[in-house]
Amino acid sequence: MFEKILIANRGEIALRVIRACREMGIASVAVHSTADSDAMHVRMADEAICIGPPPSTQSYLHVPAIISACEISGADAIHPGYGFLSENAAFVQVVEDHDITFIGPSAEHIRLMGDKITAKETMKALGVPCVPGSEGGVPDLETARRVAEEIGFPVIVKATAGGGGRGMKLARTAADLESAFRTARAESKAAFGNDEVYLEKYLGAPRHIEIQVFGDGKGNAVHLGERDCSLQRRHQKVLEEAPSPALDAATRARIGQTCAEAIARIGYRGAGTIEFLYENGEFFFIEMNTRLQVEHPVTEAIFGVDLVREQIRVAAGLPLSFTQDELNLNGHAIEVRINAERLPNFTPCPGTVATYHAPGGLGVRMDSALYSGYRVPSHYDSLIAKLIVHGRDRPEALARLKRALGELIIDGVDSSVPLFHALLGEDEVLRGDYNIHWLEAYLARSVPG
Ligand code: ADP
Repeated sequence: MFEKILIANRGEIALRVIRACREMGIASVAVHSTADSDAMHVRMADEAICIGPPPSTQSYLHVPAIISACEISGADAIHPGYGFLSENAAFVQVVEDHDITFIGPSAEHIRLMGDKITAKETMKALGVPCVPGSEGGVPDLETARRVAEEIGFPVIVKATAGGGGRGMKLARTAADLESAFRTARAESKAAFGNDEVYLEKYLGAPRHIEIQVFGDGKGNAVHLGERDCSLQRRHQKVLEEAPSPALDAATRARIGQTCAEAIARIGYRGAGTIEFLYENGEFFFIEMNTRLQVEHPVTEAIFGVDLVREQIRVAAGLPLSFTQDELNLNGHAIEVRINAERLPNFTPCPGTVATYHAPGGLGVRMDSALYSGYRVPSHYDSLIAKLIVHGRDRPEALARLKRALGELIIDGVDSSVPLFHALLGEDEVLRGDYNIHWLEAYLARSVPG
């Protein structure tokens, strides 16, 4: 087992990994930019090393600084968290070239799934159902027109290198196609330095349902059910729950098994998430994330497992600590993502937290790096806390969420908390009757704040 793990991340996810390390008796090393000198992950880790100035390109994304921090501290493994370098195959290669273990899948699998076209081709070949669309990339408008006619409008133009909801444009009719094609390409070029796009059938009212998988890198794999992440704004998840209100046990077992078998066949190592759109009882693969997800705690709550501990174990060459039969789903969990942003426009709003009080009690988990007096820097993602609740069933989880939100105090910066108070008053949310477009439509008619 590793003696010391360096966490190449910040915020709540850095704390999450430090906590797992501490329970496993492994020393932890935090890295930080000068903007994060007083951050909670720096205070909580056993050691901390400053790796650069505030912009993430010069700190959290600066590979030579991170490798140097490993050498200085003597860390034998790196946990990348999510975001930043977590899905960067070139980084994994550099880490391994320095005889440091990357806690995650192989560079090859990251590369395979990081390109959405090769990811789809691979999944299709492994028997995973995919959204109908172009065979590979669409090089020009003429090809886009031909493919769109074949699959039928509406279509969505998506960036091969896409992520975070960027580089995705809808064309409802043939008349929209030219501008959708050009905008998606331009956006993708600007965000990812790559303008390759592909076409997919645009699904009108699907749910976003993703399957958590875990492989040992030696051909064994399990699934840990699904998470329903249909409540989205600008293609970004806002609230996630598990199990999905739309799936029954037989459907879960079927899609879960398909996913586990697929990753077992490619010898996948570590945690992964296979994302689907689900409409009229059918699953359509959209992408695979080769890392720990922001919303992993809802899965941990209902299965009673520590996914970060499992990532560390598997990276150290140990077998999975559970078999499929030992994974029993228990109750219902919901996570809300609390961002430092001002409603109604969701404008990022960094500042100093005057008072912070976290909710507690049975079935409540707060993953956050906040403290009273903490200054939320303006350089990074606006996620400041994740509140996760677990109950025996969905109504209990909803009641618990309402109670916990009522206890939470974040004074001094605006946050998205009022949105969740408002959502808990909506019948459709209470019934679990929503799809990926529900939240946008709701925000268009009634903006909380
Ligand atoms: P990203 O990598 O940018 O997150 P995804 O491919 O995971 O992109 O898609 C993000 C979200 O965009 C999905 O959860 C869904 O809401 C929407 N979306 C993606 N593909 C389609 C599609 N074919 N039809 C309808 N909505 C889609």
